[in-house]
Amino acid sequence: MFKALLVDKPGDRYQCTLTELDDAQLPEGNVTVRVAYSTINYKDGLAITGRSPVIRKFPLVPGIDCAGTVEASTHPDFKPGESVVLNGWGVGESHSGGLAQKARLSGDWLIPMPAAFTPRQAMAIGTAGYAAMLCVQALERHGVTPAQGEVLVTGASGGVGSVAIALLSGRGFRVVASTGKLDETGYLKDLGAAEVIDRALLSAPGKPLARERWAGVVDAVGSHTLVNACAATKYGGAVAACGLAQGMDFPGTVAPFILRGVTLYGVDSVMAPKGKRIAAWNALAAELDPLRLAAITHEITLAEALAAASDILAGKVRGRLVVNVNK
Ligand code: NDP
Repeated sequence: MFKALLVDKPGDRYQCTLTELDDAQLPEGNVTVRVAYSTINYKDGLAITGRSPVIRKFPLVPGIDCAGTVEASTHPDFKPGESVVLNGWGVGESHSGGLAQKARLSGDWLIPMPAAFTPRQAMAIGTAGYAAMLCVQALERHGVTPAQGEVLVTGASGGVGSVAIALLSGRGFRVVASTGKLDETGYLKDLGAAEVIDRALLSAPGKPLARERWAGVVDAVGSHTLVNACAATKYGGAVAACGLAQGMDFPGTVAPFILRGVTLYGVDSVMAPKGKRIAAWNALAAELDPLRLAAITHEITLAEALAAASDILAGKVRGRLVVNVNK
């Protein structure tokens, strides 16, 4: 038997409970992983609370991320004892996921644990941090450089935002952090933000074009915030959009795209091909300062993950939550 969170829908009642499962309840898969750590991402918050229809099969173990050790494998790339990381691929949505002491997965979804990281550090990064690197790499491919000017990070105190600030400041950018938590200004500056602004400046309807300020943007928020970020992006600049913490809508105009040649990149971590994942994880290993990573990490237990799911949706979580599934 092993401990797991389980989402079920008896009748029409959506519930997530801490329970015990046995191996027979594991799904199909050619690699069995003894999980060490998982994490709570924004999407896990949606899945655990049922706020959005993230889970598409019941009952299901939530958790879009996990890190641990291979216990059994018939996949040619993985042998028992090897350390692995899983992000996305529909795990924790349509295939039982990482918020458990054991997971059964397809070896095609796994990547070897980068040597630079412990399983706990890999989950402190998690999908949020790996998506932050995908955003940074989108700006890099576009050719955005520190010499071109400031970059904006929205949802700054959250998981994607915190990691994006650390990465962009590490690359020499002047990072402006937009947050609803101005009392976290010290935390954001310690991560590398040069300036912290109130997200209220970006979250209300704005003009189609604003004063050109940003060479690049990492946006985890969507809605008016994303529209206003595009409207203030400099001629030829780029915006990497990965999130919807304010909303899924895009209530804007095409003005920034057709009058200033601004490019809006969509960033998806869930179905990103393996090569792109490994490149992102290698870059995280090379660039992410372990002290900054430690500063954004807060560890909780599997039981505490239930309440944390509501907290993350309420925007109350700072940085990243790692879940020690064995506590
Ligand atoms: P977090 O909850 O950790 O961070 C989101 C942050 O957004 C909050 O901390 C808060 O920051 C800000 N925020 C929350 N509510 C609002 C609001 N109503 N208006 C404006 N800002 C708000 O989540 P993650 O960092 O894990 O994820 C961020 C987003 O990115 C989510 O929508 C998530 O689904 C998405 N995502 C997408 C991925 C992809 O592959 N495309 C991968 C990973 C995440 P502050 O208080 O500092 O303003």
